Amino acid sequence: MHSHHSHSGDYIAHGVDPLEAVTNQAVKMKFHTYCLTEHMPRFEAKYLYPEELDSKHDESGAIAKLQRDFKNFLEHAQRIKNRPNVSNTQFLIGVEVESCDLDHIEYAKRLIEENRGVIQFSVGSVHHINEIPIDFDQSEWDRALAASGNNLKTFLLAYFDLQYEMLRNLQPLVVGHFDLYKLFLPRDLRVDLETGACGISGTPVSDISLINQWEEVQAAVVRNLQYIEEYGGAIEINTSALRKKLPEPYPGKDVGLLVKRHCGGRFVLSDDAHGVAQVGVCYEQALNYILHELNLEKIYYLAETADCQNVKLEAIPIEQFESDAFWRLYGKTR
Ligand SMILES: [Zn+2]
Ligand SMILES: [Zn+2]
Repeated sequence: MHSHHSHSGDYIAHGVDPLEAVTNQAVKMKFHTYCLTEHMPRFEAKYLYPEELDSKHDESGAIAKLQRDFKNFLEHAQRIKNRPNVSNTQFLIGVEVESCDLDHIEYAKRLIEENRGVIQFSVGSVHHINEIPIDFDQSEWDRALAASGNNLKTFLLAYFDLQYEMLRNLQPLVVGHFDLYKLFLPRDLRVDLETGACGISGTPVSDISLINQWEEVQAAVVRNLQYIEEYGGAIEINTSALRKKLPEPYPGKDVGLLVKRHCGGRFVLSDDAHGVAQVGVCYEQALNYILHELNLEKIYYLAETADCQNVKLEAIPIEQFESDAFWRLYGKTR
């Protein structure tokens, strides 16, 4: 079993358990490959989260702490990766890039370059639209939509354009939670199907595919997927959406079918765990999605090259994935 995206409470404020506990759980569950991908530090005060500011840390203190935590994470992750474990779980070291804005993307590029040899790959994510976080809470999400003129089409185009900038700058091997904007999308939001304007009249968003409703949005998604195909990246199926009670993982079926058509169906699996209870969480639901909604023939994972200098994508047939002992042991319990 694999996960290509995880966090811990040691190095980010909203994590739950220590990194040792999370990685011990991955070993206990006999993961084949488990990737440690802590967030890259943010360097601008406007992107700090409330939980990062406390009595001990003002803005500059909190920014310095993010830098320290990241350095400590890289050291700790190397210790875990290099020491033997009873399940021969392969730990890989990556970082998640949040892509707050273009400056942050440039900064991420430099930081990855400076830590070449330690950081093996990146998870390229987008967490902000119009510089406002879209996965923090409902009021921030609402504010991000308002900053797009309360127009859902404009909002989605801003998301996919920033994603494209991130892709072109970083070429991340794993593209994180491709449709994260749906986390706080209100099910009863009404939208004008012509213009994308949100208002009291219009069609409930739950009745439409956000991707296929507007040609420009679909074209932006296809553009991004074709670019990922070109440089050789993969899209993660991220189960944190299921853990947060969304009906589908990231990405949903509308994006998933486009990945099959335009990006060679290159999917990897991720739990995006922030604690022990989230290791391999909702994987059985993801298996059903993979087998019966997307009908994938293969699943991909990251592996080190023979000289251990690089990582590359490997594929296994879906029959092999489906017969993994993991499903017997943990399928129903998580
Ligand atoms: Zn993320
Ligand atoms: Zn994450």
